[in-house]
Order: sequence, then structure tokens, then C-alpha cells
Amino acid sequence: MTDEFTTDIYYDDDADVSTLDDDTVAVLGYGSQGHAHALNLHESGVDVVVGLREGSSSRSAAEADGLTVTTPADAVSRASYVSVLVPDTVQADVYENAIAPNLEAGDTLQFAHGLNIHYNQIEPPEDVDVTMVAPKSPGHLVRRNYENDEGTPGLLAVYQDTTGDADERALAYAKGIGCTRAGVIETTFREEVESDLFGEQAVLCGGVTSLVKHGYETLVDAGYSPEIAYFECLNELKLIVDLMYEGGHAEMWDSVSDTAEYGGLSRGDRIVDETVRENMEETLEEIQNGEFTREWILENQAGRPSYNQLREAEKNHEIEAVGERLRDLFAWAEEEPTETDDESV
Ligand code: NAD
Ligand code: MG
Ligand code: MG
Ligand code: MG
Ligand code: MG
Repeated sequence: MTDEFTTDIYYDDDADVSTLDDDTVAVLGYGSQGHAHALNLHESGVDVVVGLREGSSSRSAAEADGLTVTTPADAVSRASYVSVLVPDTVQADVYENAIAPNLEAGDTLQFAHGLNIHYNQIEPPEDVDVTMVAPKSPGHLVRRNYENDEGTPGLLAVYQDTTGDADERALAYAKGIGCTRAGVIETTFREEVESDLFGEQAVLCGGVTSLVKHGYETLVDAGYSPEIAYFECLNELKLIVDLMYEGGHAEMWDSVSDTAEYGGLSRGDRIVDETVRENMEETLEEIQNGEFTREWILENQAGRPSYNQLREAEKNHEIEAVGERLRDLFAWAEEEPTETDDESV
């Protein structure tokens, strides 16, 4: 643990995988996170059983990887530690049908994202521990890092501790998947969920794509060529973000020209102004009061009509066709595409 932060950070020395020696861990789902958790735990010496529906296409993959596979219900009944790694939108259903009937007092119910617990879509009984271990990375990297003896930073939260060992057990799990090699930050379900939703809506996914589209449209509508607009507003973004990732805003400002620095510093707040800040606060409020999640649940129940429409409109934006053409024409596109996953942020 370090004292420099207000949050607690845990490393390998703070955790002991043998805490789970008497447990069987059921990993439900074998997608991005599921395959990584199951394989890493298995190789860390933990007894793992994978729970998948009959006929699930992931079944053969998990079996080929040398893991024991059974139905979600049977996996839960065999296990004392249940890691819920099916998509967030089906978790409530899987909980009701496969998990709840097979949970026993003293079991651990664990998530990698707190959405269903925080918004009461899953209401676990009082006699089980409820925890979260959430790697801050797509599952494929969780797996690759583990294989390379590297770690993946993660979050840990305890929602309900009936055994008195919830923290220790979640830390053992975090070590088993390789997270404590890098560092695990303690948080709460509320903080993890609300900040995650806000980040992806306001900045990372929603905010940045809207900023790019507005910039692109402004240039193209003023008569500049789409190719130039694409480079200026989308392609160069990666170079800028790489610098910010490495050394914060300071490194980015250092690396750009003084003209860019003065222009950016003097104009940035005019573009993303107080009204944007107010919109962000409104968006955060919808997250905090549950309005967003209610909307998303209803959207799923209705067969995702708005979601499909929004996706279609985004796909048909001119910048996408321009980008596809340009990426084919230039040498930089020969780099391997990076792995992305829509639930990874
Ligand atoms: P995913 O979509 O990659 O995989 C889902 C798995 O669940 C698949 O194996 C699928 O076959 C199985 N599945 C789907 N429906 C099922 C059902 N009804 N019954 C049983 N199995 C079913 O999911 P994911 O992206 O790994 O997300 C899992 C959890 O991890 C979510 O809570 C997500 O928020 C969280 N998370 C994901 C990432 C990420 O990088 N993808 C990062 C952090 C946290
Ligand atoms: Mg059991
Ligand atoms: Mg320039
Ligand atoms: Mg400079
Ligand atoms: Mg998210």
C-alpha cells in the first residue's frame, strides 16, 4: 500500500491466491473478460469451472483451452465463488435463472462492472459476499499481460461483506488474474459505475466523437477538402492523445508549436465552453438519478430501436467513408488494428 494517494492501492504482496484454495470459482461467460479471468486463475492454481449455455459458441473455445465447462446453473452450484462475466444486459436474467437458485450462504458473488448491483437490477441475498474486481482494460490485454508476466491495473470494491473476508478474497482473485502485479485501486460500486458511465458518455466515446464530427463538418462546410479535414480533426487526434497519455497535458503542449499552444490555450475554452460543462452536469445527473440506466434497460426490452438507429446514422456519417478510403491509401494503416471492445471503457 502507498500513502501518497487518498485511495488505497494493493500490490502482489498484499494478496494471497491460496486464500481461494478451498474454493471453486465459477466464471460465467467466456468472452472478452471471461476467457482472460478463467485462464489466468486456472494458471494461478485456482480451481475454475466455466459456465456457458448449452449450444454457446464459446463452449468449444473454453474446452479447447483445457477448462471444465458446464451450464451456468451447474457451475454456480459447484462453486463457492461466482464471477459474473456475461454481458451487463443479460446479467439480471442469468442471475434470476441460473445464479440465485444455486447460491449458498457464504458464497461470493462477483462482478467486473457494478451496473446491475448499483441500479438494483440484481438484488443478492444478505448472506453472500458481493464484490467487484474490474480490470481497467479489455480482456484480451488482461490475458496477454498475464502471459507476459505483466499486470493489468484494476479496481476492487466490496458491496456486501458477510463472511468478513470479502476484501481478502477479492484481492486473491485480483492477484490470480494478474491485477495486483500492476496495482489495484479500492473503490465503491457507485463510484466505479457512475464514473465509468460518465467518462464514456461525456469524454471518451460520446464527447470525443462529437467534437471530431463538429470540427470536420465546420471545415468541410467552409469549403476545405474532406481529406484535409479528416487528417486535422481525426487522424492527428491519436498523436495528441499519445502525448497526453505519456506525460499529461504538459507534454502535449511542449511538443506542439508555440502557435498551436497559444491558439489552443486561448481558444479551447471558447469551443468547449460553460454550456458544455452544464451539459456534462446534466448528463451526470441522469446517471446519478438512474434515468440513463432506466432508458437503456427499456431500450433493450424494446429490441434496441434507438440504438440501431443511432448506430446506423454514425456509420453513415461522411467522415467514415473518407477515413476508410484514406486509411487504405496511406502506409500508416498497415499497422495492426488495435483491439477494441465496446464495453471496455
Ligand atoms: P462479452 O460480450 O465479451 O462476453 C460475454 C460472454 O457471455 C460470452 O462468452 C457469451 O457467450 C456469454 N453469454 C452471453 N449471453 C449469455 C447468457 N444469457 N447466458 C450465459 N452466457 C452468456 O462480455 P465482456 O465484454 O467480457 O463483459 C463481461 C463483463 O465484464 C461486463 O460486466 C462488462 O461490463 C465487464 N467489463 C468488460 C470489459 C471489457 O474489456 N470488455 C472491461 C471491464 C469490465
Ligand atoms: Mg455453489
Ligand atoms: Mg497542425
Ligand atoms: Mg511548444
Ligand atoms: Mg463502461
